[in-house]
Amino acid sequence: MNQCPDCKTELEYQDGNYACASCQTLFSKHAFCDTCDSELERLAACGAVSYFCKPCNQLKSKSTARYEFRPV
Ligand SMILES: [Zn+2]
Ligand SMILES: [Zn+2]
Repeated sequence: MNQCPDCKTELEYQDGNYACASCQTLFSKHAFCDTCDSELERLAACGAVSYFCKPCNQLKSKSTARYEFRPV
């Protein structure tokens, strides 16, 4: 579920970003480590998306990552 951080409206996926129809704002999705809270590096391998945390030196699955939407 991708919700607008401001108005909680469901965001619409648009060319790699997420748009809120009611705020007219474009957001990008950032993933953060559940352990150290650093921003994760996105890895796309074989169609599956996973994340890598440099400080933890560990692969993170997208289900354990914490997500944040930030205005582009
Ligand atoms: Zn909104
Ligand atoms: Zn980490």
